[in-house]
Amino acid sequence: MTSAGRFAPSPSGELHVGNLRTAILAWLFAKSTGRDFLLRVEDLDRARSGAEAEQLRDLQAIGVSWDAAVVRQTERGALYAQAIDRLAVEGRTYECFCTRREIQEAPSAPHSPQGAYPGTCRMLSDAEREIRRASRPASIRLRSDVTEWAVEDQLHGKYVGVVDDFVLRRNDGVTAYNLAVVVDDAAQGIDQVVRGDDLLPSTPRQAYLATLLGLQAPKYAHVPLVVNHDGVRLAKRDGAVTLGDLAAVGVPAERVRDLILESLGLPAGTLAEALLDFDPASLPKEPWVWTTSSSRLTSQ
Ligand code: GLU
Repeated sequence: MTSAGRFAPSPSGELHVGNLRTAILAWLFAKSTGRDFLLRVEDLDRARSGAEAEQLRDLQAIGVSWDAAVVRQTERGALYAQAIDRLAVEGRTYECFCTRREIQEAPSAPHSPQGAYPGTCRMLSDAEREIRRASRPASIRLRSDVTEWAVEDQLHGKYVGVVDDFVLRRNDGVTAYNLAVVVDDAAQGIDQVVRGDDLLPSTPRQAYLATLLGLQAPKYAHVPLVVNHDGVRLAKRDGAVTLGDLAAVGVPAERVRDLILESLGLPAGTLAEALLDFDPASLPKEPWVWTTSSSRLTSQ
């Protein structure tokens, strides 16, 4: 299998300039290292009808292309089930009946980091489990042997983060993101993960899970986000932030692409041209502040 990078959007709505910038970066990282570039639609959750088509159209409009058919997570349930079964056979899973509220209100276990699952259901006896099953469907959690794990990130260096007994399958039967992402990256030959640095804290869980499944964790590069003028991660409510909004105020997709490239210290033009100047070591380390002053948007 060839090695590949990827962009993996959740089809919950239109992509905004932050998402588009991450997609361009993922493409540049992949192509500059001779990798294929793949697109995976993470539609297990939060999918809105029509959003996938809009996202693919917008990616193409800014010049992001992919090298194989688009993969959708909703079509890969068997693969996820296989991975969970494998962990279950090895005694690495357990059923959890906790509600969100119970988890919030539970005293945290000694030495367990803030926000980590306190382990309430880890030690249930068979009899207790039987009783709980009658009242509530179970989620499936990983029985983790570690409380933290280190990953190496191309932009952040060594990063150590929390690993708790995280959910593998939710109690509504939907595969959890952390499991799906690990299974899919490995199955698709993805050995380079470039994504927003809001996902860095999830990465130790994913890398640890990969080792439990006998998989090689990919190389990671977590890139700075785009933020609004208050320094908060860009969102739809921040005004004209999607290609659709921007087109409506006279800013074509090519101009958005050029602004993104300039924000990365790269020349305006096609992505193939930008590739010639791309050097991960000289990327800006700070978030990019998106301001919608129209003169800046439309001036060439
Ligand atoms: N689907 C996730 C998102 O849109 C990205 C997951 C990933 O890149 O690993 O936030």
